[in-house]
Amino acid sequence: MDFSLAAEQTALRQRVISFATDQLGAKAAEHDRDETFDADGWQACAEFGVLGWPVPREYGGSGYDPLTTIIACEALGYGCVDNGLVFAIENHLWACVIYLLRHGSPEQKARLLPHLTDGSMIGAHALTEPDTGSDVLALRTTARREGEMFLLSGTKCFISNAPCADLFVVFARTADDGPAQRALSAFLVPRETPGLTIRRTISKAGLRATPMGEVGFDDCPVPAANLLGGVGAGYQIFTSTIEWERGFMAASQVGRLGRLLDTSVGYASERRQFDRPIGAFQAVSHRLADMRVRLELARLMLHKFGWLKQQGRMALLESAMLKLFVSESLLESALSAVRVHGARGYVADLPVERELRDAMGCAVYGGTSDIQRNVVAGLTGVVGAS
Ligand SMILES: Cc1cc2nc3c(=O)[nH]c(=O)nc-3n(C[C@H](O)[C@H](O)[C@H](O)COP(=O)(O)OP(=O)(O)OC[C@H]3O[C@@H](n4cnc5c(N)ncnc54)[C@H](O)[C@@H]3O)c2cc1C
Repeated sequence: MDFSLAAEQTALRQRVISFATDQLGAKAAEHDRDETFDADGWQACAEFGVLGWPVPREYGGSGYDPLTTIIACEALGYGCVDNGLVFAIENHLWACVIYLLRHGSPEQKARLLPHLTDGSMIGAHALTEPDTGSDVLALRTTARREGEMFLLSGTKCFISNAPCADLFVVFARTADDGPAQRALSAFLVPRETPGLTIRRTISKAGLRATPMGEVGFDDCPVPAANLLGGVGAGYQIFTSTIEWERGFMAASQVGRLGRLLDTSVGYASERRQFDRPIGAFQAVSHRLADMRVRLELARLMLHKFGWLKQQGRMALLESAMLKLFVSESLLESALSAVRVHGARGYVADLPVERELRDAMGCAVYGGTSDIQRNVVAGLTGVVGAS
């Protein structure tokens, strides 16, 4: 067993951290306050190659293998203090681009991937509906076939990137009867499609630099050429791709765990009370020790997930455990960071309170922690778990 990184991976990690600290996040507080998307940061990431890390070279990407991609994403999460910008990139990569990479036809890949990689096209993922959150199979958006077209009708909510997205991966119902698992299909829907509207933008507690919106489809004509996989393959596409989303999105959160730890250790070493650094008090140092343990375990789980994907193996159980542990750890460590910083952790002068707000959403999107526990219990053989 070898836990060390290759020399190129270590160098890539350093390069990404330098890029992210030097060129990203300078206006993070502003974007958080005004809920604005950092278009300049997005473009800088595109030019640095971030949007093409997992994309094969023939489509303009870097063609990194899964483990190398994970190391790069972790470094981005560590170096970029604008978690909203990183989350927008993650949605683009792991909830849109990944669907094309895994399930797109050669024609769809050639048509769309170069634009998604060079930053000119922003991707989004439209699954959740007002009445359908965790219960994916119950979604109500319909796709009615008319010749070579499908007419999409329905409403999708809480869609990250929606207000600025150019391409949506949309899940809709193509059958009224038969097995529920065969009733859904996935479509690639460009923003300019008639009948597609952003009905409203949605304001949220954290990750405020990732725009979020409600998307309406009113008899929205989508060519059959934009169907992902076949008719009725939507649920199978979703279940086989969700492990990629859960696993790879955890990478930047592990980076954030590292940043929160380093920031808190630095503060605990400098801030003095009772004539000594506050880190000298066991209550504070143990809090920091727990943050370190969470980081270590999260990184081990993350790298194991990357190794499994590297081997071309399934990782449904590992990705659910990883998502559950990392998002809950991030929430705990962000709260610890607030406590270590005292009042400065609570007021907006420092970005610590923002880290806590940003961490809250992680235990919800991509399936809540309760849903991850259901998956883990089911795959552990707990009878009746769902
Ligand atoms: C920051 C953020 C970004 C998001 N981005 C997107 C996006 O880009 N695209 C998209 O489609 N969606 C997105 N979502 C929506 C997200 O996927 C859903 O919020 C999530 O799946 C949960 O659905 P819900 O909010 O309707 O909660 P519900 O499903 O209504 O759940 C409410 C509560 O009940 C619990 N619960 C429900 N069912 C069960 C069960 N079977 N067992 C145990 N507990 C259960 C849940 O854990 C939760 O605590 C985003 C959400 C957030 C917060």
